[in-house]
Amino acid sequence: MKIVITGGAGFIGCNFVRMMVNKYPDYEIKVLDNLSYAGSLDNLKDISDKIEFIKGDITNKEAVENSLKDADAVIHFAAESHVDNSIENPENFVKTNVFGTYNLLECARKNDIDKFLHISTDETYGSIERGSFKETDRLDPASPYSASKAGSDLLVSAYHTTYGLNTLITRSSNNFGPYQYPEKLIPVLIKNAIYNNPLPIYGDGLNVRDWIFVEDNCSGVDVVFHKGEIGEVYNIGGGNEKTNLEITKLILKELNKPEELITFVKDRLGHDRRYSIDTNKTKALGWEPKWEFEDALKYTVKWYLENKWFWE
Ligand code: NAD
Repeated sequence: MKIVITGGAGFIGCNFVRMMVNKYPDYEIKVLDNLSYAGSLDNLKDISDKIEFIKGDITNKEAVENSLKDADAVIHFAAESHVDNSIENPENFVKTNVFGTYNLLECARKNDIDKFLHISTDETYGSIERGSFKETDRLDPASPYSASKAGSDLLVSAYHTTYGLNTLITRSSNNFGPYQYPEKLIPVLIKNAIYNNPLPIYGDGLNVRDWIFVEDNCSGVDVVFHKGEIGEVYNIGGGNEKTNLEITKLILKELNKPEELITFVKDRLGHDRRYSIDTNKTKALGWEPKWEFEDALKYTVKWYLENKWFWE
C-alpha cells in the first residue's frame, strides 16, 4: 500500500509515521510537508531511510498532484495547529486548514484514491459543561483554529456524500508527548520549569481538557484507518480530564520545582471552558489507550530533559 501522510514532519505526524514504518514495513510511506516553523526533518531523522519526503505545501495544487499521483491512500495531519496563532492571524488557518484540505480532497477524488483519512480535533465540538460529545453532535467551534478545522471536516464529509470519496475522520483530544513544538501547553510548562521561568496559566487555570498520550492517538488513527467504516467520524481520547492547573502542578512536582513559578495571565479570547468526548465508537473497533496519564507525563518530561536539541 502506498500512503501519503501530510504534516508528517510535525508533532503527531512524525510519531505516526514512526509507528507506521515500524509496524507495516511493506507499506510505502511518502510524507508531504512544507516544513513550516512547526515541522522539521530532524523529527524524522531516525527513519529517513524508510520514507520518501516531499517538501511541498498542501495549498499548492501542483505539489499535491505530484505527491498523490500513484498513492492508494492519504492520511492528512498537515494543519496550522496553534489556537493562539489563529487568534492573532486567522488567515493562514483558513488557507492551510480549509483550502489545503480542499486541494487534497479534489486531487484525491480525481486520482481515485482508495481511502482519505482526515485528522481533526475535539475542539470542533466546542465547550461542554457536563457529559461528553458524541460524533453525531453538532459542531460549534469557538476559535478561528477550531472553526477552520470544522470547515475542513465538513468538506471531507461533503466529498464522501457528493463524490463517493472513501473518507474517514478522527477527532482527538489534546495530545502530548515527544516532538511537540514548544508553543503548546505541556512543552511550554516543561521548558519554563527547567529554566525556573514563570509558568504562564490562562485565566483561573480551571479550563478542562482531555489529554491523550500521542502514541495512543497514533494507535487509534491506525485502527480507524484499517477498520473504520467509510464515511464515519471517530473520537479518540485518553479519558484523562484535567485542569490546566492540575497539569502544571504535576509537571512542577516531576521536575522538583516550586509552585511559586505559576503565574496567572490574562485569559485567552473565547477560551473554551471544557472539552470532553465519548470514545466508545472507536473502542468498539478494538482500540483502547494503553498509557496511564501520569506515566506518560513522566515519560514526556524525561524526553524533553534528554532531548534539548529539539526545543532549545
Ligand atoms: P503541528 O503544528 O505540530 O504539525 C503540523 C505539521 O503540518 C508541520 O509539520 C507543518 O510543517 C505542516 N504544515 C503546516 N502547514 C502546511 C502546509 N500548508 N502544507 C504542508 N504542510 C504543512 O501539529 P500537530 O499537533 O502535530 O497536529 C497534527 C494534526 O492533528 C492537525 O491537523 C491538528 O489539527 C490535529 N490535532 C492536534 C491535536 C494536538 O493536541 N496537537 C489534537 C487534535 C487534533
